[in-house]
Amino acid sequence: MSRFMGARYSMFDAYTPGEQPQDRRYIKLNTNESPYPPSPKVRQALNADEVEALRLYPDPECGALRASMAAQLGLDENQLLCGNGSDELLSFAFMAWGSRGAAFADVTYGLYRVLADLHQVKVTNVPLRDGFALDDRDYLGLNRLIVIANPNAPTGRILCLDEIETILKTNPKNLVVIDEAYIDFGGESAMGLIGGYDNLLVVCTYSKSRSMAGARLGFAMGAKAVIDDLVKIKYATNPYNVNALTAAAGLAALHEPGYYRENCRQIQETRRWTTEALTDLGFRVVPSATNVIFVTTDRIGGSELYQGLKQRKILIRHFDIPAIRQYNRITIGTRRQMELLVETIDRMLGDADDGAGPGIAASPDGEEQL
Ligand code: PMP
Repeated sequence: MSRFMGARYSMFDAYTPGEQPQDRRYIKLNTNESPYPPSPKVRQALNADEVEALRLYPDPECGALRASMAAQLGLDENQLLCGNGSDELLSFAFMAWGSRGAAFADVTYGLYRVLADLHQVKVTNVPLRDGFALDDRDYLGLNRLIVIANPNAPTGRILCLDEIETILKTNPKNLVVIDEAYIDFGGESAMGLIGGYDNLLVVCTYSKSRSMAGARLGFAMGAKAVIDDLVKIKYATNPYNVNALTAAAGLAALHEPGYYRENCRQIQETRRWTTEALTDLGFRVVPSATNVIFVTTDRIGGSELYQGLKQRKILIRHFDIPAIRQYNRITIGTRRQMELLVETIDRMLGDADDGAGPGIAASPDGEEQL
């Protein structure tokens, strides 16, 4: 850090993204990306005309994309805002509505805490219940910004719509942000509640179910006045927040909803298979409504499992946080990737049981074909 850094930021603990290694090939199950490519129309949309148009600034209103999205979602265009990933929209939300503080789960998406610090928002940690369950009773009448990842990350657990509605009803004086990054993998969106509640913001992303993490495209939905707040902040921070190629790709993706639905179905199926296979190996798997599973076992430590798999070219996620140190978060990949994961873990645990230690088994072969 230079000596010029402002005091407000110099003490600040920033977010640590999951590894995106550029050096060697891994089976990458660490950052909740889709194992499937974007749909064929997205590939066609990123053509020479779009490249030629890069000399111009993009449409700051993201008009074409927003109009199509709104039509598909049954919303008014002014109930929608697109962002540079949902991370950006979450940042806007903390800026816009955090002045009385913000409440979120003690185990949830790590960026919330960072955004709260960045925007000087006082944090109320809401402990999860047994088995990492979210409980609507913990969010009643909090009188400050509430942010809930639903389903939650990294745990995968979910609140139902009735519970979200109770939270909305008992918090009429503050915004309730429902972060639905993973909703397409098994939950019901709170989007349908927007008409009834002027204190609701639903945030979604193209990064997971729509296979476009690299494009950075998120969208937020809420009452017009709520979206207007965020639009104001967007024009004060990053007016052209969605680049032209991303807007074109997002628009194309909208035309193939069936492709993405089928990918989600496949991921749910693979999640079921992986859950059973790891349970057979002695893991406890937290019930998940996302494209990740949160797992633990007494047979090996969380950090050891992460390290051992990394040596064998499989990346999963381990968080060095006391409450979840014994756990690992594993993104659901293709069936073949998950078979390799399970075989590798089985071999590692076998070696550990033989006293050879998990670091000694051979690396899995075959990743090159994945
Ligand atoms: N919300 C949650 C709960 C997430 O896990 C993530 C991904 N890390 C995001 C939001 C951010 O997604 P995006 O790629 O749209 O910024």
